[in-house]
Amino acid sequence: MKAVRFHEHGDVSVLRYEDAPDPRPAVGEALVRVRACALNHLDLWQRRGMERVTIPLPHISGADVAGEVVEPGGSGFTAGARVMLQPGVSCGRCRACVSGRDNECPTYTVLGYMNEGGYAELVKVPAANLVALPGGIQFFEAAAFPLTFLTAWHMLLTRAGLRAGEDVLVLAAGSGVGQAAIQIAKLHGARVFATAGTEEKLAKARDLGVDAGINHHTEDLPKRIRELTHGRGVGIVVEHVGQATWERSVRCLARSGRLVTCGATTGAAGTINLQFLFARQLSLLGSYMGTKGELLDAMPFFASGQLKPAVDRVYPLREAAEAQQRLEKAGQFGKVVLTIE
Ligand code: ZN
Repeated sequence: MKAVRFHEHGDVSVLRYEDAPDPRPAVGEALVRVRACALNHLDLWQRRGMERVTIPLPHISGADVAGEVVEPGGSGFTAGARVMLQPGVSCGRCRACVSGRDNECPTYTVLGYMNEGGYAELVKVPAANLVALPGGIQFFEAAAFPLTFLTAWHMLLTRAGLRAGEDVLVLAAGSGVGQAAIQIAKLHGARVFATAGTEEKLAKARDLGVDAGINHHTEDLPKRIRELTHGRGVGIVVEHVGQATWERSVRCLARSGRLVTCGATTGAAGTINLQFLFARQLSLLGSYMGTKGELLDAMPFFASGQLKPAVDRVYPLREAAEAQQRLEKAGQFGKVVLTIE
């Protein structure tokens, strides 16, 4: 098969479009013909190389896949069925898995992280990771859905316990998680504020339903949030930017507010004033991916069009390096997707 692989870590020039061995599914695994694969920041970190993490080389990235079943692997799907893939891979047998908390499985990993992912014509996954794709949804849209919507769903509903009528602040409206969090929060009856660095992105955020957009380059975020909430602050902050925004994010919280974070794109260090933490009864919540059940919970809203991934740009697989550069420069609004004809 053709695939985009890297044999050593480095900048986008290490990505090679080349022949690679076809994946061989084991018992209980399905083989899928990839039609589209969305990019995530994880792909960039894998390619650059991470401290204390050894990625098997050569490596094929890609967590967000939609395509057609080639070998069903006991999944109950027929060959040719249109599917998208659960991006989280777990053992399926341990206590966490059978309790529906598969993202707490000791062997939990993301497709395309320690295993071969979707920057390829074929990919293998556990049969339990196949999700039927409703008619009318195109492959490039389906690939743009799983990881970010699953992550944002788990953050807002499971971890932060969003209730209708609450105020939610979403950082970086144009990011994959940002655009998903905006839509999920609106769907559940929240008033949503979101930040972005350009007026163009803020306009797109308003198109997604954002009640007030805040330019994080030109506006004082905590001050603006106090104005919008009559001094209260917001019930929930959706964080994933990290070091660059952490302290401001905390200052935007109302009493009993919850900050939920799933990432630290700008760096992992963050400080907090402990008096502020206890006196205002704040909660700081970590969140990692989400469960298979949560993705299935979100699916009907995807099928109905109430949740619709923002797709920034689509590239053919062989242009994966250009696609990663687009993400690296943070010029995108929504998901960058690779497609295979
Ligand atoms: Zn498990």
